[in-house]
Amino acid sequence: MASNNGTNQNLIVSFGEMLIDFVPTVSGVSLAEAPGFLKAPGGAPANVAIAVSRLGGTSAFVGKLGDDEFGHMLAGILKENGVCGDGICFDKGARTALAFVTLKADGDREFMFYRNPSADMLLTPDELNFEIIRSAKVFHYGSISLIVEPCRSAHLKAMEVAKEAGALLSYDPNLRLPLWPSAEEAREQIMSIWDKAEVIKVSDNELEFLTGSDKIDDESAMSLWHPNLKLLLVTLGEKGCNYYTKHFHGTVAAFPVKAVDTTGAGDSFVGALLTKIVDDQSVLEDEAKLKEILRYSCACGAITTTKKGAIPALPTRWWQGDPFVGVGTTKHQ
Ligand code: ADP
Repeated sequence: MASNNGTNQNLIVSFGEMLIDFVPTVSGVSLAEAPGFLKAPGGAPANVAIAVSRLGGTSAFVGKLGDDEFGHMLAGILKENGVCGDGICFDKGARTALAFVTLKADGDREFMFYRNPSADMLLTPDELNFEIIRSAKVFHYGSISLIVEPCRSAHLKAMEVAKEAGALLSYDPNLRLPLWPSAEEAREQIMSIWDKAEVIKVSDNELEFLTGSDKIDDESAMSLWHPNLKLLLVTLGEKGCNYYTKHFHGTVAAFPVKAVDTTGAGDSFVGALLTKIVDDQSVLEDEAKLKEILRYSCACGAITTTKKGAIPALPTRWWQGDPFVGVGTTKHQ
């Protein structure tokens, strides 16, 4: 199996969708008004796989792309970034997913998806590369792959196989409401696999959505706690993150930066965190060590906001000493 350091000992496998966002060439317009669009590769699980690899970890992406120009382009981007693509399959009939996304002048985000159906939705359990899934030390996923069959069954099977093989399960729901038939369905399906994950990261908005409360506090976060959970994280954008374990909880502040585009900050945060956890899971029980790792994760999240797009803004480990030296500078990629 290909990997960026010749070993799959501490492999992080990220499962789910990879797609192309089309973003207007000018900001503050509606999709209809946009004079043109630029391609921006994305999909949270793919972003996480790339974040891990750029930060010096070993990662693989498992998912399905269209057997078309865009699908092969995306697979090429994973490869260029050192992500193992042996778990990628290509659909002859369906296209790679596309999403047209704009931030209008009034601050509203407008989405238009081309997923009727797209290749990622058609991944079947039979198409899974079980060798890679069984090699995972950490198996990471979101919730978009739960929306429709057969991908949902493939997701559940992959999780089960990874767990049986001893992987730590990591879940970032990455709520995308417009993709779900209804908010109730989204909540129900996101929660249907809740108690399997040992590491869960939600954003403040997702915490509100899942709990139905408008409070971003410890009580609200702890209402999402389950007995198998080792670490619950609530990311708070420019306010950093709150962490919860069985024995301790607290807050880690963000690094103040001049944010240009926050797309991918959460994926960068997760990639950084998993890159550290995969080497030493004892950090989940040691508050001082965990805080240090979360500072690193917040630094990676902050760096990602300083440049447009998700993948182009994910930091690369170029430093050898102080990991925070890249924050707020332009030295990262
Ligand atoms: P998501 O992208 O999943 O919504 P967040 O926006 O909360 O996640 O970002 C994840 C992490 O990235 C935050 O916990 C924080 O450390 C960092 N981050 C995000 N936005 C900013 C910002 N504007 N300034 C500094 N750090 C940020």
